[in-house]
Amino acid sequence: MALEAEAKRMVAQFEYSAEEVNKGVREFVREMEEGLAKQGTSISQIPTYVTSVPNGTEKGVYLAVDLGGTNFRVCSVTLHGNQSFSLQQSKVPVPRALMEAKTSHELFSFLAKQIEAFLKTHHLDHFEKHKAQPGEVDYFDLGFTFSFPVNQVGINKGKLMRWTKGFNIDEALGQDVCELLQKEIDSLGLPVRVAALVNDTVGTLMARSYTSPGKTSTLIGAIFGTGTNGAYVEKLDRVKKMKEIDDATGGAANYDATTGLMVINTEWGSFDNPLKVLPNTQYDIDLDKESVNPGIQMFEKRVSGMFLGEILRRALLSLYQHPDAGVALFKDESSHTNDIRSTTTVADDSPLFKQWGIDTSFLSIVEEDQSDHLRITKQVLEKELKVEAASTEDCVAVKMLVHAIGKRAARLAAVALGGVVLSTNKLQEDETVDIGVDGSLVEYYPGFEEYIREAFREIEGIGEEEKRIRIGLAKDGSGLGAALIALVAHNAEQPL
Ligand code: ADP
Ligand code: MG
Repeated sequence: MALEAEAKRMVAQFEYSAEEVNKGVREFVREMEEGLAKQGTSISQIPTYVTSVPNGTEKGVYLAVDLGGTNFRVCSVTLHGNQSFSLQQSKVPVPRALMEAKTSHELFSFLAKQIEAFLKTHHLDHFEKHKAQPGEVDYFDLGFTFSFPVNQVGINKGKLMRWTKGFNIDEALGQDVCELLQKEIDSLGLPVRVAALVNDTVGTLMARSYTSPGKTSTLIGAIFGTGTNGAYVEKLDRVKKMKEIDDATGGAANYDATTGLMVINTEWGSFDNPLKVLPNTQYDIDLDKESVNPGIQMFEKRVSGMFLGEILRRALLSLYQHPDAGVALFKDESSHTNDIRSTTTVADDSPLFKQWGIDTSFLSIVEEDQSDHLRITKQVLEKELKVEAASTEDCVAVKMLVHAIGKRAARLAAVALGGVVLSTNKLQEDETVDIGVDGSLVEYYPGFEEYIREAFREIEGIGEEEKRIRIGLAKDGSGLGAALIALVAHNAEQPL
């Protein structure tokens, strides 16, 4: 009982009340609007130069490539125009040596060769006709998902700011990555035009907008995976900083302003870095202090898959090390398992003692567990954390903490999504507000969407209207989504 009482006390620290949710939403809306007005704000609100979203009637064949880290993916997407599509793809690991090549040419010519190989396999006829008589066939428009920080200045123009994830090619810094790819494609003589540079959240938004039922276009594309971020459709005249950006980049010439819309990449992972409204526990504080980027991405550190396991680990460790052994976790001297009484033990090399030792998928398993005496939790504690013979009381405490951390994350997700819904006034303008989501956390964590919805109902300005918000999984934003961005980029240049 003492353990349960202590776990309850800890759980209370993760509670995120309706009042706090509302405070969070007000601050989120304020930061969104600040981000639209000027540059260098805490929510960046980056214009993506995508000025329309698909409605599911689009047709054609488009290419998409994705350079995100470990693998390079090439795919072609055939849009059937009735919300459906078919997709063919290939995937190759990027050779280590190319990640740290001397010149960008080495990496980008490798990428172009993969595109060539893909065309030969899946579009041989088109490829050969073009070779025989250039100009005979149309060029494929290609969407380029490039998951490294770029300063985007047009729909297919973006300068590399820095490499991450083990890549390091100095010579590429400051160069336009679309141009680098186009140059190598051209030197192989491929019928391919790099039409758009794509962020994965925008891909999610587009993919959902194409596939969502009916003709309602989607408002938000949101990722809850390793990290969290969202993109949404904004009215161009609300993007007050656009003129300043245009003046600096010549951007106005690069996009179609006639739609009156601009898709904005919020970069909401950095919402409220100064912690004005975000909930904070000792576990959050310590996680941040020992992270590679203290003080940064504070919203993301409470919401996304990369961090929830680590928050839990710190909470469990603190309960395990509780000074009062009668209260502590995993200290049962005669726990009852399969009619055998045994002492609970935690191996010295348990991941419980290692930073990042618990993966967020662990939380999903425990949250899901409805078995007698939490048998499944007991098993996963043994398998993943090397805890032998955990007692049922231990498992109950672990489950309470898991639930508290997961639910807080979902309620925070509702702050971001609800903030965008309110700031854009969409509930007033449209019958249905559609949101596309992607990422393992929202896909697999049991009840994640329901906790978001519960929080929506507590938000002033949403309440009962929560029913008119539709949330749907938008898988494969980097394939379908990137292809759709190539399509709208093409249409913006040559209106149909
Ligand atoms: P990415 O964000 O890299 O595109 P994912 O959407 O698959 O990839 O997200 C990976 C993150 O999701 C990791 O942080 C991982 O810990 C977490 N994750 C993986 N499986 C699950 C699961 N079943 N439940 C909750 N989180 C998960
Ligand atoms: Mg992803």
